[in-house]
Amino acid sequence: MIVELINTGSELLLGRVLNTNQQWLCRQLAELGCVVSRQVAVPDTGPDIQGAVRESLGRADLVITTGGLGPTSDDLTRDLIARLLGRSLREDPQVLAAIQAYFASRQRAMPESNRVQAMVPEGARVLHNAFGTAPGLALEIKPNPYRAGGEGSWLVMLPGPPRELRPMFTNQVVPLLRTLLPPEARFACHTLRTTGLGESWVQERIAPALTRLVASGLDLGYCARPGQVDVRLSARGPQGESLVAEAEKVVRELLGGSCYGTEDEELEQVIIRLLTARQATLAVAESCTGGCIAHRLTNVPGASAVFLAGLVTYSNAAKQQFLGVPAQTLAAHGAVSEPVARAMAEGARRATGAQYGIGVTGIAGPSGGTPDKPVGTVFIAVASPRETTVERQCNATDRETFKQVTAQQAMDLLRRTLRD
Ligand code: AMP
Ligand code: MG
Repeated sequence: MIVELINTGSELLLGRVLNTNQQWLCRQLAELGCVVSRQVAVPDTGPDIQGAVRESLGRADLVITTGGLGPTSDDLTRDLIARLLGRSLREDPQVLAAIQAYFASRQRAMPESNRVQAMVPEGARVLHNAFGTAPGLALEIKPNPYRAGGEGSWLVMLPGPPRELRPMFTNQVVPLLRTLLPPEARFACHTLRTTGLGESWVQERIAPALTRLVASGLDLGYCARPGQVDVRLSARGPQGESLVAEAEKVVRELLGGSCYGTEDEELEQVIIRLLTARQATLAVAESCTGGCIAHRLTNVPGASAVFLAGLVTYSNAAKQQFLGVPAQTLAAHGAVSEPVARAMAEGARRATGAQYGIGVTGIAGPSGGTPDKPVGTVFIAVASPRETTVERQCNATDRETFKQVTAQQAMDLLRRTLRD
């Protein structure tokens, strides 16, 4: 299937908005086995948009446009495409009702200019927008006058704002795509997320066991990010599903507890899920991560039910005052030490009444290292009602990556504690 993407919006060409829709859609489509073969960004003008659509329809089975479905005078995509294809527009009462309901639920009056968003080209399918007013549109163009053989194409118009476009694509365009793909083009893809092992270790552990499946068409990919490695298993054709399922079994067996999730699931989501299932609470005492762990945990919806507090205790005095870390422990072992991490995690529990506490103390660098505690040294403690576990790691890198990797390790230690 030939897929082309047209991102409309003068703001993209003026460099005022980063074209994240391009990256996100290309990635989503690639995971479905439809690699985008051409992508273009065009300004909000009639000739540019129509020219780009005409050209793409001359080549592609599926053309996706983004942007220009809004209510303002520069939002022209819907109109221009309808005109190009000679389709009339009519007001759709259901779409209009949805737009009116959108405003009513926010206790706002609907501006008259939003009415234009209820205009639907003849024969188009409406893609409901759950997060905004502009519906998306899907059109089958058959026969397609721009293709030499006249074979049909699909044209899908999506709104520009990423928070509207993404759920619309996932919930409405992906199911449509699946019906369009012939069986031989069917594509199975599954991502397993691991933490605690470097990329080469992951490969060394799993690749030898997968050679037979790779020979039968399994595609094996690795994606390393701070503190984690994703293993991507994919295969095409009618056997795709079973190849991927078999590979997943092998990988899970070999990587065991290092595998923390699948697809786009983040470690913080796993933590909130595990805590919620156990009705357990958590408090975090952070030094060198500066609130990164609390930040990531509070990105997860529902965190408030289990996450009680995050204390960023950077100075020795703050560690004593808020966590009750004894002055003599700090003096005897230094702030970056096993006993201090332990006292921080236990202090976080005591200070907040949480069942679980995390304590993190380390040397982010670039200065402050010593021969026995070089830059990157970090002690991570997890205190539970039963015991406190402390791990020592060395994450010598830049400060930003140090925070991410250390936060990942701390959450992983908690994950393993919760699982036991
Ligand atoms: P539009 O629907 O074209 O009026 O776009 C509305 C807003 O969505 C723009 O002002 C941008 O902030 C955002 N937006 C539009 N296109 C993109 C894109 N390709 N990538 C990221 N954001 C976008
Ligand atoms: Mg626009």
